[in-house]
Amino acid sequence: MVSTHPAGVQDAGTQYLPQRRNTNTNISPNQELLPLTAKANSQGNLEIGGCDVTTLVEQFGSPLYILDEETLRTACRQYRDGFQKYYPGESQVLYASKAWNCLAVCAIAGSEGLGIDVVSGGELYTALAAGVSPAKIYLHGNNKSREELILAIESGVTIVADNWYELHTLVDIVETLHATSPSKIRVMLRLTPGIECHTHEYIRTGHLDSKFGFDPNDLAEVFEFVSQQPNLNCVGLHAHIGSQIFERQPHRDLAAVMVQWLRDANKYGLNVTELNVGGGLGIKYVESDDPPSIDEWVKAICEVVQSACAAENLPLPKLLSEPGRSLIATSCVTAYTVGSSKTIPEIRTYVSIDGGMSDNPRPITYQSVYRAVIANKLSASHTETVTIAGKHCESGDILIKNAQLPKTEPGDILVVMATGAYNYSMASNYNRLPRPAAVVVANGEANLILQRETYQDLIRQDCLPERLK
Ligand code: PLP
Repeated sequence: MVSTHPAGVQDAGTQYLPQRRNTNTNISPNQELLPLTAKANSQGNLEIGGCDVTTLVEQFGSPLYILDEETLRTACRQYRDGFQKYYPGESQVLYASKAWNCLAVCAIAGSEGLGIDVVSGGELYTALAAGVSPAKIYLHGNNKSREELILAIESGVTIVADNWYELHTLVDIVETLHATSPSKIRVMLRLTPGIECHTHEYIRTGHLDSKFGFDPNDLAEVFEFVSQQPNLNCVGLHAHIGSQIFERQPHRDLAAVMVQWLRDANKYGLNVTELNVGGGLGIKYVESDDPPSIDEWVKAICEVVQSACAAENLPLPKLLSEPGRSLIATSCVTAYTVGSSKTIPEIRTYVSIDGGMSDNPRPITYQSVYRAVIANKLSASHTETVTIAGKHCESGDILIKNAQLPKTEPGDILVVMATGAYNYSMASNYNRLPRPAAVVVANGEANLILQRETYQDLIRQDCLPERLK
């Protein structure tokens, strides 16, 4: 099998450390493999947020998600400040919390002035519990339940309406609730822009054949319908074209198309003042990945919206975006403990770790590629090519094919990089593995943000009917 690592590379894990540490503020986290605070400490071990990763594993167990607060805050600020720098109108960055939704992450994003994009009652409940203002929460979803819509209405968050069924359900709900909550509901409309981008089919959402959003051919009908609803206040339009995108052109095209929609909406008497261009900026998972920086991405969007509005003689809308992956992925690594290994002569060596597809389902779902280092051998030369296998009863439970590593032994701490997005949030209990703990690290301090699940947790929702005892 062909390695995706550059031929002949015998480097050590130190090659992945951020290079320009003295000017951290200029580093775009999505262009790095390791968190911005990562370094080799005096013992030669990987340190993140001032904490030795091997010590964190001793203290909090394995596997362990390790979230670097500085990297996450830096990404939040680069988005927020970028919009303030390049866009003269109002702007609001929303963290797409589907990437990793938990109290601490929502609280950190909220404390940096970001709002939160949620896609379920559970994510909404968490964001509210984290103290995020409902005025900055936006609820998405292509099949929101009546209960989720009622929770959103009662909490006062904005609902991003996805389809006709939802619009009719909303109208029906507001009529029923009208006596108790007479104010209008803030809605946005999600539209499918018909823009193709080069990313995995499952994470592409903006092409016409997508389960999300209204067909742009129905625009006139949708605008007309909404303009006639006394209880709906349509404040904006939304689109999201996909995830892990490296080109800037699709988002430029999107921004331009959305300004045309804005012009059309206002012809129907709707007072649409917000445009949400979604998320989708890619990150570096392997050396060859070359995404634009957060700053470059924000600049591209802001320029297009301004020039398109000028061409249409429209006032600048409030500009929203909702990045997930590029905000959080690089701020987290997952530490595992190496266990058994198996060498098949002439074929490959499998090195097994104590987690796998249950804590990181991306490789088996999207064939995603990751890099890893050995935390306790950061400076040792990469002399081996091995396949990192998870511990699940599934042959496809492979985290990394052809990983370049130093010689590994049981007890080594293997650290997979850039696991902050769509790892914990997609984690499962497959094979009844308890989900790992997560810690946030900053200035040499580590705090638990997710407790490790226990076997008791695993059977908490189980019911054993009397007759089966
Ligand atoms: N907004 C919506 C509607 C999404 O579906 C997604 C994820 O696919 C995002 C934002 C976040 O995308 P990303 O994590 O690529 O920034």
